[in-house]
Amino acid sequence: MGFTGIEILKMLPKTNCGECGVSTCLAFAMKVAAGQAEIGACPYVSDEVKEKVGEASAPPIRTIKIGREDNALVIGGETCLYRHEKRFEHPTGIAVLIKTDMGDEDIAGRLKRFNELRYNRVGLELKADTIAIEDTGGDEGAFISLLERAQRECPDASFILMSRESHCLAAGVRACGDNIPLLYSATRENSETMARLARDTGCPLALRGDTLGDAAELSGQLQGMGLKDLVLDTGARTIRAAFEDHVAIRRASIRHKYKPLGYPTISFPCEMTKDPMLEAMVSSVLLAKYAGIIVLSDLQGDVLFPLLLERLNIFTDPQRPMVVEEDIYPINGPDENSPVLITCNFSLTYFIVSGEIEGSKVPSWLLIKDTEGLSVLTAWAAGKFSADLIAMFVKKSNIADRISHRNLIIPGYLASIKGELEEELPDWKVQVGPREASHIPPFLREWQPG
Ligand code: SF4
Repeated sequence: MGFTGIEILKMLPKTNCGECGVSTCLAFAMKVAAGQAEIGACPYVSDEVKEKVGEASAPPIRTIKIGREDNALVIGGETCLYRHEKRFEHPTGIAVLIKTDMGDEDIAGRLKRFNELRYNRVGLELKADTIAIEDTGGDEGAFISLLERAQRECPDASFILMSRESHCLAAGVRACGDNIPLLYSATRENSETMARLARDTGCPLALRGDTLGDAAELSGQLQGMGLKDLVLDTGARTIRAAFEDHVAIRRASIRHKYKPLGYPTISFPCEMTKDPMLEAMVSSVLLAKYAGIIVLSDLQGDVLFPLLLERLNIFTDPQRPMVVEEDIYPINGPDENSPVLITCNFSLTYFIVSGEIEGSKVPSWLLIKDTEGLSVLTAWAAGKFSADLIAMFVKKSNIADRISHRNLIIPGYLASIKGELEEELPDWKVQVGPREASHIPPFLREWQPG
């Protein structure tokens, strides 16, 4: 049971110094209680308080970081079963597998695609996160040489090191330096050696059981050896078993606070089928329910892109609209004779509208007004995109200094405020643009100042 904000406040120095990044101790305590700040951000609390509060306010599924501190893949930290209850915290990591017994061409292709298959959507870069490197023959030299090649060719990747041999993993950890890898895997047979390696190196450790029950038992043993950063593999290698295990793990950890299963998972669609389309389908199911990392046999655009979009949809916070900044956005190199369009700051609207303007090749100014992430009609209905507010923003933006005409194109759905807006902006002529973004290019190509 976590502490309340007031209980946490009693343990703070109450000097309101602001060094934690929050202006008062009370506000900081409330944030810690809500899971939005870590107690360790206050430099003045004792280790004892850190441990007490940290333990009590920790999410039921432990947060695990893999990679460099400034570019880490973060998994786990989940607090709910269904996204609408709150939100899902950390997107499933997507890994591609390379092995020491693979041909040079296969490895080169996978590393090349890891670098090249990157997509920009709604201002975010979508890409695979990590590379799983598997030692298939216990050959330390071959394993390290493959790891070093991946480090050279994919400098922003994090790594999952896979070997049955602890000496291979230990050498891999040394080669990784500050790029902390995930070690795979501890089993019943090698748990003590792997636990020692993970403890000595500070790396998270994935464990592999033969069944869900076996994984839970092994996890309990590793906890008993003092390990905190674990990742679970229940050994399931069919979609049904993997699906059932993931649901059971999430339920046991969230609903019943069952500690041995309170960790993110790693799953291997690459080992469940040889059919790339079936592998994509399995991956899609496990992204939704509730894999921490999925390891793919290869990266191909037609599979990766839909998975990245699915991940983006599932892990977007449903309570916080995605927004872009209120500003003037020049598109296609506009000048003083270029048209001026205005729309809301809901990021999907911005990216669709700006994409259509860009596609039209017509140099244009796009004004983005802060509507708190609401779309055009919703913002208008909520009084956040009304004629007086638009007029105020147009004046404040100083767009008039950049153009020689006085024409403002408003979204087609706001046609009803044209007259009111012209009263608010007496020097301007308000033109009603298309309702649908896809009609913007022909509209702009034919546009004439009024
Ligand atoms: S750093 Fe600590 S003492 Fe200072 S305001 Fe934050 S919580 Fe209070």
